[in-house]
Amino acid sequence: MNKQQTIAQTVSLSGVGLHSGQPVTLAIHPAPAGTGIIFVRNTQGGQEHCPATIHHLRPINLCTTLGVNGFKIQTVEHVLSALAGLEIDNAFIELDAEEVPAVDGSAAPFVELIHRAGIVSQEAPRTYLKIIHPIKIQKEDRTLTVLPSVLPKVSYSIEYAHPLIQRQTYEFEWTPAEFQRSIASARTFAFSKEVEWLWSVGLGRGGTLDNTLVFSDTDLLNEDGFRFPDECVRHKILDLIGDLSLLGIPVIGHFIADRTGHSAHAEMVKAILDQPSAWILLNAEDEEHPIHCHKISSSSLQHYKKQSQPACPSA
Ligand SMILES: [Zn+2]
Repeated sequence: MNKQQTIAQTVSLSGVGLHSGQPVTLAIHPAPAGTGIIFVRNTQGGQEHCPATIHHLRPINLCTTLGVNGFKIQTVEHVLSALAGLEIDNAFIELDAEEVPAVDGSAAPFVELIHRAGIVSQEAPRTYLKIIHPIKIQKEDRTLTVLPSVLPKVSYSIEYAHPLIQRQTYEFEWTPAEFQRSIASARTFAFSKEVEWLWSVGLGRGGTLDNTLVFSDTDLLNEDGFRFPDECVRHKILDLIGDLSLLGIPVIGHFIADRTGHSAHAEMVKAILDQPSAWILLNAEDEEHPIHCHKISSSSLQHYKKQSQPACPSA
């Protein structure tokens, strides 16, 4: 799809935040072409708008948090992953509390929500950021690399000293159909020995076996088992797709991750933006030929988004 997309109508769901444990309602609204994804927090004095871009990233502590003017929006990665996975370019995400609902710990409920709304094509063409030179993030022996590639792709490896995880690798061809089939329903995971520590630092308060895979020393505590034998590594890809959407523009490259997480994902977004010689912008022209794009200048990236922010339709 080479036109920008939004949703056809407002849809909402309610739940509790994974870390805050607070009840929250999330509504996704359509937005005009060029808006990008903008979080909207209802406050007593009105509304705060926070574009879902790396410029609004707050310190990462097991989840991705954005913030503006003293307000934060926590655990944004799963709903952002659903939007990016389904190629939704423009939407307002309205919240009445500070954390996105955990729902079942995956992106599947957000995918269902977007389909319930309906996806609509907009007049404006989509602009892609295409990687032309490799970029590598390294912390000790953990790496996240992006290589030039004809189509977007992710190869992710994880390794945990747990008999039900050990080393898992998954290769993901980044298309909406494949995202829905292989990635969207993979749930977040935690280790039971970490739970008391999580609570002591104010995290994981909304975590239950209904929204998290929880591992004991030797087993999985969820009675219904895995959705995929390699559900954990698939969830890491889900997180990466959500975090990469903080570029504010769809990216074409082959991401290769080895035992990384949210911090490295965010470092990669910053590294890409810091190295404009490593990519070009392509303006998609032709719906029939998804790769048939024409090059536009890098300096137009900041002009890709509308300068004036459109108003969220909700009061
Ligand atoms: Zn996650």
